[in-house]
Amino acid sequence: QRQPLVIANWKMNGSRQLTSQLAQALRADTGLLNDVTVVVCPPAVLLPAWQQEVFYDDVHLGAQDTNENSAGAHTGEHSLPLVSEAGAEYVLVGHSERRQAYGDSDQRVQAKVDSILAFAGQKLKVVLCVGEQEHERDSGDTVKVIERQLATALANVSAGQLAHVVVAYEPVWAIGTGKTASPEQAQDVHAFIRNWLQQQYDAAAETVPLLYGGSVKADNAPALFAESDIDGGLIGGASLEPEAFLAICRAA
Ligand code: 13P
Repeated sequence: QRQPLVIANWKMNGSRQLTSQLAQALRADTGLLNDVTVVVCPPAVLLPAWQQEVFYDDVHLGAQDTNENSAGAHTGEHSLPLVSEAGAEYVLVGHSERRQAYGDSDQRVQAKVDSILAFAGQKLKVVLCVGEQEHERDSGDTVKVIERQLATALANVSAGQLAHVVVAYEPVWAIGTGKTASPEQAQDVHAFIRNWLQQQYDAAAETVPLLYGGSVKADNAPALFAESDIDGGLIGGASLEPEAFLAICRAA
């Protein structure tokens, strides 16, 4: 069975102070971390602070993105060896903000996925983000877009490597807008993703966690997480509020 998974994506937010506050809140909720895998993806410069905070706790860390090259002249970018050394065990790839504003094409997302799964250091997990824009949903192209994103990103991924893959469905129109997909809308797409994975990978698809992201809050999380193919969430805004984030983790 799939253990529930909740990932905080702080985006370009947070601080050292909030790092201590959220880490303390997670530590204080005894039992929670036995039932739910919790991952925090702060801005990369806060990874060392997080690493210190959660050294004795079962909180996992992730990077919001990485460069597909392992080193070199890439001013402003972060490599896998660097984020791994700073404690990251997960890496988000293909977030819609990266796709829309920072040139992460399907091909580039594929290169990043391949580099993460080939990384020879500590085994890293890919959190592949997919999702349609509002006009694509309106024109009935949701499934076509998701299929294209999955097929390109995972083109070189074997069934054996699938154990290191998480897929996050984040409809672009629901991100930061307060407009969540309904549990039924989200479940429909998650079922499509699960089916697609089964066609490509057979039984290995069963263990891939599928997360929903897009305006998940404490009040809408329980209904979303109750759906059979929604194994947890990728949380933006609400992950900056310790109380709300903990409530979401408890709902998973
Ligand atoms: P919000 O939860 O702020 O809508 O952000 C979702 C998201 O993009 C997480 O990666």
